[in-house]
Amino acid sequence: MLTYRNNKREFEASASTVAILPVGAVEQHGSHLPVGTDAMIAQAFADRIGTILDAYVLPVLSIASSIEHRESKGTVYLKAETLGLVIRDIIESLHYSGYRKVILLNGHGGNWILKPTIRQLIRDFQDKGEPMEIVLIHNSVVVKRQHEVTEHVAHDLHAGEKETSIMMYLHPELVSEYVPQKQATTVPQDYMDYFDVDDITEDGYWGFPEAATPEKGEKLMQLMVECALDYLRELDETREAVRQRKGAT
Ligand SMILES: [Zn+2]
Repeated sequence: MLTYRNNKREFEASASTVAILPVGAVEQHGSHLPVGTDAMIAQAFADRIGTILDAYVLPVLSIASSIEHRESKGTVYLKAETLGLVIRDIIESLHYSGYRKVILLNGHGGNWILKPTIRQLIRDFQDKGEPMEIVLIHNSVVVKRQHEVTEHVAHDLHAGEKETSIMMYLHPELVSEYVPQKQATTVPQDYMDYFDVDDITEDGYWGFPEAATPEKGEKLMQLMVECALDYLRELDETREAVRQRKGAT
């Protein structure tokens, strides 16, 4: 695995053409978690996948799309369109220097612009006849197996059982006592289009931090890695099937 700590000679000696870009957020996560929670989780996720795939793991793109948390001091964000352009520039520069597969590991649900950005960019590379695989994996890839570890899956979206558990495992020194909220937030997630998180929560979290433990955090990280590798393998199998089918006609 290579990172930005490696030098020119080490990059030239590496045969890997796979890069991983973790994308996080800098936004309030209640009184109990640091504003860099999503960035820290995305980086840890990327480091684990990068070790397995022997990839170039980029430093996490920390400041991303967090407009829904803008009322909270400490939150910093790019406009969604700006984030899309930043992602495009990063992937194009990786392609220029020889990378042929880029995996975006997204640690923040508000970074929805990643999806249309890569959907367009993949076609743009195809249309230029330049081979480039781009894959987008959210840390919510774990959702179908999350019930194996956590009590809550529904309405545990932000600084709840899942994220608090992972932070208790990765960075226990950064986790504080949570502030009990009188009412759980159960509105649909897409209400983030209409409200700021400060409008609909008492202490900025959306979920169940009281159920968090470091043991759950460790298991969740393992599951996230397993689910991401499953996703990559299934995508590769589909690519191969498509290639064979098109080659056969
Ligand atoms: Zn988060």
